[in-house]
Amino acid sequence: MTLAEISRHCYELAQSYLDLDGSTLDGVINETQNAIRLTRDYFLEDIFTRWSPLDGEISFSYNGGKDCQVLLLLYLGCLWEFFVVQAGKSQYALQFQLFPMHSLPSVFINLDETFPILYRFINESAARYHLELYESCPQCNDGPCDMPSQFRRFLDGPGEGTRAIVIGVRYTDPFGDQLEPIQRTDSNWPDFVRLQPLLHWRLSNVWSFLLYSGEPISELYKVGFTSIGSIEGTTPNPHLLRTKHSGAREKEEGRSPFQWEIDHRYIASATAREEHSEEWLQSLAEQYLPGWYLTDDSLERAGRLKKG
Ligand code: ATP
Repeated sequence: MTLAEISRHCYELAQSYLDLDGSTLDGVINETQNAIRLTRDYFLEDIFTRWSPLDGEISFSYNGGKDCQVLLLLYLGCLWEFFVVQAGKSQYALQFQLFPMHSLPSVFINLDETFPILYRFINESAARYHLELYESCPQCNDGPCDMPSQFRRFLDGPGEGTRAIVIGVRYTDPFGDQLEPIQRTDSNWPDFVRLQPLLHWRLSNVWSFLLYSGEPISELYKVGFTSIGSIEGTTPNPHLLRTKHSGAREKEEGRSPFQWEIDHRYIASATAREEHSEEWLQSLAEQYLPGWYLTDDSLERAGRLKKG
């Protein structure tokens, strides 16, 4: 698929979710539909009217996590909608107009040691979504090695021309409650505008839309991880240990959370892959429930170890 095709796919995916009959389904679907509408409004009415997504003014911060993947799907859908609206203003019919981009400027700051399986997913998904992914160097031999410095390198290099960066942060993330959907960086950061139109999403909304999308997701989420940092700093979420859940009502009823979304997923993606066969993935799957069994936002990072 080209960038135009995957963007159109994402547009149709979002429409399909919005068309679900939220009144007869689980309340979370109705709530997620409202969350999607607000995110789309931010993109189409507040963001794309100030920074053009079609000429490199907006970049995307991507680390393969569930939140930025959800936001990326919505972003691409809005990109397609924006293109169609712009094209409609031309004297030429849509089929005679070329989608003006081949890839999406994006940045992955690889400071901590990344799980190899996640690293693989980042690269595979970057190819699927046509991300032109700048990856910061994990070992910095010249100069400071922190997030602001790495973003400065991106902006001074391949991200030149970027004025705003899309970030998949949510209000329930650490320090997230103080954030705004559109805000400039703090004074100790390089100057750019942070675009954060996923702030209002709860964990349930993320799982509902992501599992419905049928898109390949990081394998780690299938074996108890609910939020992913560095290898040393992240474990599966202890609240998903199967022994703790031996009497869980969903299992007794034979119904897992978000099973409706999984059963009715948009289109089984052609590139969706079977479970990785790594032994440790299998053993984790025996020990832990999938990440989406946990919807309590306050426990999402229970598998992220505090930095000492
Ligand atoms: P999860 O919490 O499941 O790991 P996530 O990584 O998408 O999902 P956070 O870890 O809360 O979410 O990070 C919030 C956002 O910040 C991400 O969605 C992404 O846009 C940005 N971000 C975080 N870490 C990086 C990184 N190393 N490189 C680039 N962007 C990042």
